[in-house]
Amino acid sequence: METLPIFMKLRNRPCLVVGGGDVASRKVSLLEKAGADITVVAPELHPTLMQWLAEGRIRHFALVFEPSQMDGAAVVIAATDDAEVNHAVSQAAQARNIPVNVVDAPELCTFIVPSIMDRSPLLVAVSSGGAAPVLARMLRTRIETMIPAAYGRLAAFAAEFREAVKRRFSTGQQRRIFWEDVFQGAIGEQVLSGQESSARHAMEQLLAGSGELNHGEVYLVGGGPGDPDLLTFRALRLMQQADVCVYDKLVSKEVMELVRRDAELIYVGKSRDQHTLPQEDINQLLVRLAQEGKRVLRLKGGDPFIFGRGGEEIETLMENGVPFQVVPGITAANGVSSYAGIPLTHRDYAQSCLFTTGHLKDGSVNLDWHALVRPNQTVVIYMGLVGLPEICRQMQAHGASESLPIAIIQQGTTQRQRVVEGTLATLPGLVEHAGLRAPCLIIVGEVVRLREKLAWFAPSPEAVSAG
Ligand code: SAH
Repeated sequence: METLPIFMKLRNRPCLVVGGGDVASRKVSLLEKAGADITVVAPELHPTLMQWLAEGRIRHFALVFEPSQMDGAAVVIAATDDAEVNHAVSQAAQARNIPVNVVDAPELCTFIVPSIMDRSPLLVAVSSGGAAPVLARMLRTRIETMIPAAYGRLAAFAAEFREAVKRRFSTGQQRRIFWEDVFQGAIGEQVLSGQESSARHAMEQLLAGSGELNHGEVYLVGGGPGDPDLLTFRALRLMQQADVCVYDKLVSKEVMELVRRDAELIYVGKSRDQHTLPQEDINQLLVRLAQEGKRVLRLKGGDPFIFGRGGEEIETLMENGVPFQVVPGITAANGVSSYAGIPLTHRDYAQSCLFTTGHLKDGSVNLDWHALVRPNQTVVIYMGLVGLPEICRQMQAHGASESLPIAIIQQGTTQRQRVVEGTLATLPGLVEHAGLRAPCLIIVGEVVRLREKLAWFAPSPEAVSAG
């Protein structure tokens, strides 16, 4: 180990920055986050530094560097493009035993400024010892994507209870086990998902000797339209920590691949109208699994609150006092339209957009047709493959032009995506011969014309036919 990573307290301590450019201002900003009392020495100040000077956030000491300026400083940073000055700063600091960093000159530094992931009070610092700062930065970015943004809140939450936990458990080992359970269990999840008051309440109960540590919970997660790259960070994290996964037909196999390997998988079907399990049974199943103490991932295609019956599922959870959280997903309208090159709104063609379901009931589609044929609007129809001929007929009967563009997209965002495009008059005929497979999304409106110019996603033909 060439250096020893330490975290230095700089709040209200004097720090000197030599240099007034862009790089210097980035270092100043970092020191400011740590609460340092900052003085800058430079012949000229970058506009950002000028502004901070005007706001009283920094001091501008002098135009030219003199060694005595660093007397009393806790750290010194040199960020000038003058090698001689950088050298002089380094020497003067070392002579005074003040830690010094010279940007991009590891040989002149007595300390290194790492790449930082800031989830205060939690900090992760990455350093390559000056050997490859870009690599360190890339590594930091990867860590950023792995650590939930709310980890800082979790650490702050733990700090609140630190003393109480110490009083409750006398040995370090007991405390360690307790905290591991809290962080990995329902309380930790509650803090991360912004339900802090419930978490606080559960924690108080636990410390008072009532309440259970690891009761089950349900994560109602939107798995997006198919492409696993469209999952949210939170969805992925919960997918990887669930004990059991209750999933639909709509969830793509690529997304299912990312569920924790040893989670139990329970398929509850839900194709268009032959539900493998009736909704009420699914609701009860979720409650039962959670009551067994499991972390239950209820994984749905798209977004759970858009034609996803997520509302009904959580209603039952609430009635039974099961803790849960809802994680939004990219709904089909969003994901599929993007991948098909069809913007849902456009200044010239559509100022509003309507999502509806084309689900057949007793062989007919029951929709507010007048609302659907308004000009300058895009209509997105979920579950409309079977009802397509009826939809096209009714829209024309209610005043839409027979030449109104319409597209149907099969398995959008996946390698099996196919788009069939036509008009209200021609699409049903085209689709009859296309042999499309569910799920399919319909988009009606002038915006469909833009596809010709904007389509960018093109799965390979072999992938489409193999799917
Ligand atoms: N909750 C889901 C929708 C469930 S309803 C969401 O927010 O997307 C099921 C309908 O969604 C399907 O019939 C189809 O119309 C649409 N759908 C979902 N994923 C799709 C995809 N990848 N491609 C095309 N349509 C999709």
